[in-house]
This record gives sequence, structure tokens and C-alpha cells, in this order.
Amino acid sequence: MTVTPGNHAVGFVGLGIMGKSMARHLMAAGFTVNAYTRTRAKIEDLLSEGAVWKDDPAAVAADSDVVITMVGYPHDVEDVYFGKDGDGGILSTAKAGAVLVDMTTSSPSLAQRIAAAAEAKGLKALDAPVSGGDVGARNGTLAIMVGGDQEAFDHVLPLFEAMGKSIALLGPAGAGQHTKMVNQTVIAGTIMGVAEALVYAKKAGLDCKKVLDVIGGGAAGGFQLNVLGARMVDGDFDPGFFVHHFIKDLGIAETEADGLGLDARALKLAKSQFERLAQEPGGKELGTQGLFTLYDK
Ligand code: NAP
Repeated sequence: MTVTPGNHAVGFVGLGIMGKSMARHLMAAGFTVNAYTRTRAKIEDLLSEGAVWKDDPAAVAADSDVVITMVGYPHDVEDVYFGKDGDGGILSTAKAGAVLVDMTTSSPSLAQRIAAAAEAKGLKALDAPVSGGDVGARNGTLAIMVGGDQEAFDHVLPLFEAMGKSIALLGPAGAGQHTKMVNQTVIAGTIMGVAEALVYAKKAGLDCKKVLDVIGGGAAGGFQLNVLGARMVDGDFDPGFFVHHFIKDLGIAETEADGLGLDARALKLAKSQFERLAQEPGGKELGTQGLFTLYDK
């Protein structure tokens, strides 16, 4: 049986740039959303729209049939599932039969650890990281890449469909996070190319907006060029996707690539460029399109 608004409440832990928009789509689809995030003040708007505040991740899980997490780092994921110091997290209070869905970009091994801990308690866990950026979250058009079992995937599919457009189960626990690392490896090389190319256009005295318009309709087109390239040209470096989160992702991807014995030199170069950017004042808190500023010196 799939989830339905009448029969199932959804918990949501971590309501930042991505999570808040994603939760709004669940509410628009009719689901009750039990919400907890580290800084309550940041979601007063969501609470006034009908989300129900819970005091911690364990309280969210106690009242929810599906729990979605969208926090920042793997250590945040560990805290919310296992509790700080190994006690009091989602796993300690989850309802019988609940499905736990981590949509944070995190490590495949942690996804496997959560799935095993969930199974030991008779629960199901999925790893379901996303791609599509702040725009995809707002528009409900995310790509959602899932690892875990088919029955749990089928059960929560209506929730994924409320938040995303391109949705697939890729394999057992960890397969979603591995797929996300493939995605981030594509982006790593691509965004460096976009930043380099648009600084080229600028220094060559071209009209950058016109350049974007024409090449964005050709073989180079895509989110990194058309959306983030446009922000670079406009001088808009506000975060849709934080530089510090991308460095986290590239670190996970590098560890996995090294473990597979790969030659991942584009990934490693991108990581070192973003680490340089992070050392600039305010660099960590920029959006990833801020890489432009490193080349535009
Ligand atoms: P964000 O704006 O920093 O949101 C994360 C939220 O989780 C914040 O509100 C944070 O609270 C909260 N949080 C962190 N640790 C927590 C904890 N232990 N307990 C409760 N709440 C906690 O980041 P985001 O851009 O939404 O990204 C979320 C995840 O999605 C990251 O893993 C990121 O790599 C990934 N992602 C992001 C994008 C994007 O374009 N933004 C795209 C795909 C994937 P505070 O407000 O107190 O910090």
C-alpha cells in the first residue's frame, strides 16, 4: 500500500534551502508534515503554513509514518538517526512499519549502516539524495536517486513524486548515494569549465549575456551553464548550493573513487579549486557559482 495523505503523516528533519521547499510540496499534496530543524526561527513561515513543530528528531519519528531527513553533513545524519552520543535519535522512537528516508547528500557506507540498524528494529530505510538545486526543490522537479528495497520505495513513491520528476531505485542501500557521487563528479568538471569559459568571454570583451543565450541553446547547455552561468554573469553569488556542501560531496566522491582505484583527476582538481575558494573571506558560504570569482581575478 502506498502512502496517502489521509492515512500517513510525514516527518521532516532539516528544513534549509532544500528541505523547506520540499516540505511545502508534501503539504501541497495534502500530507501533514511534522517538522524539526536546528534553528526553529528559520521555519516560522512553514509553521504558519501548517507544518507541525516537534522538539527533536525523536519526537518527529514518534508521530510520523514516514520520516524524511535533509540535513547538511554525514555527521548531522548520524546525530539525527542515532542520537547525539548514540541515544535519542529517529531510530529510537520510529513507529513500527515506518520508512526512514535520508535525502541528505551523505556517504554510501553511512546509508548502509542506517539501513542495517533500521532492519534490526523491523523498520525500512532508503537513501534518496537529490539533484536539481534550489530551483528544482522549489519547482518540485528534483532528480531523486534511491537505494534500498523495492517495497519501501513503492510505499513512499507518492512523496517522491510530489518533490521530483526523475525518480529511480538504483539498487540496495547505498546505491542512491553512489549515484549522487556520479552526479557530483559530472558537476565537478562542468562547473569549472563554466567558470573558466565565462571569464574568457568577459576578458575577451564579449557580451556575456548574449554568449550565454546562444551557447546555452547548443551542446554546452545544461543547469550548470544556463542557471549557474547566468548567476555568474549577473554577479549573483548567493547560495543555492553552498560551497562548503560541495566540498563535502567532493570529499565523499574522492574517497569512493580512490576506493575503486579510479583516475579521478577532474574531481580532485575541482575539489582543490573549491577549497581555495573556501579560504577566501566568505567563500564557504557562497553558492557554487562563486567559483567564477576565483577565476575572475
Ligand atoms: P541548508 O540550507 O544548510 O539546510 C540544512 C538544514 O538542516 C539547515 O536548516 C540546518 O539547520 C539543518 N540541520 C543540520 N543539522 C541538523 C541537525 N543535526 N538537526 C536538525 N537540523 C539540522 O542546506 P541545503 O542546501 O538545504 O542542503 C541540504 C543537503 O542537501 C546537503 O547535504 C546538501 O549537500 C544537499 N543538496 C543541496 C542542494 C542545493 O542545491 N542546495 C542540492 C542537492 C543536494 P541550521 O539552519 O541551523 O543550519
